[in-house]
Amino acid sequence: MIVDLLTIKDAAISFDFILQPSEIDLDSDEAKLVNEISVKGSLKKGIAQTDVQGNIDARIEIECSRCLVTAEQPLKFSFSAVFVSTENYTDEKEAELSIDDLDVSITVDDKIDLRELVREQILLAVPAQIFCREECKGLCQKCGASRNLIDCKCEEKEVDPRWQSLRKLNLN
Ligand SMILES: [Zn+2]
Ligand SMILES: [Zn+2]
Repeated sequence: MIVDLLTIKDAAISFDFILQPSEIDLDSDEAKLVNEISVKGSLKKGIAQTDVQGNIDARIEIECSRCLVTAEQPLKFSFSAVFVSTENYTDEKEAELSIDDLDVSITVDDKIDLRELVREQILLAVPAQIFCREECKGLCQKCGASRNLIDCKCEEKEVDPRWQSLRKLNLN
């Protein structure tokens, strides 16, 4: 999945490949890829920069932030990235061209590792919080039961002590 820019003759090439979940390390305990990841896109080589655009179609399994049940959901998005060589990067910075640092990657030895790019894009796309369903009620703060499954009635018996302290704060 490494593109050597020096060997590309055409101004643009397209790519279409499949990665296995094991090839992408998300480095996360909460999220993991479950299906093959389909990547399609194109790469356009310019004089000062290389533009990569593509679509990623994957599925992730991730823990619900409220009730901790694992939920699977599609992760399908398009991305674009800009690569410049170290030289051009420095030049353009000096010339103060409108390149947003965050959106620009630097090529090493005129090579672009598409797999690494896909990994970065997936990491950016995985939501920080996910809910198994919109109206997920989460876990009971008191007894730990999933309030989606049972109505433990703890809240009726007693006000959550954390709300108590919030009330105190509000009074001050
Ligand atoms: Zn949930
Ligand atoms: Zn409870």
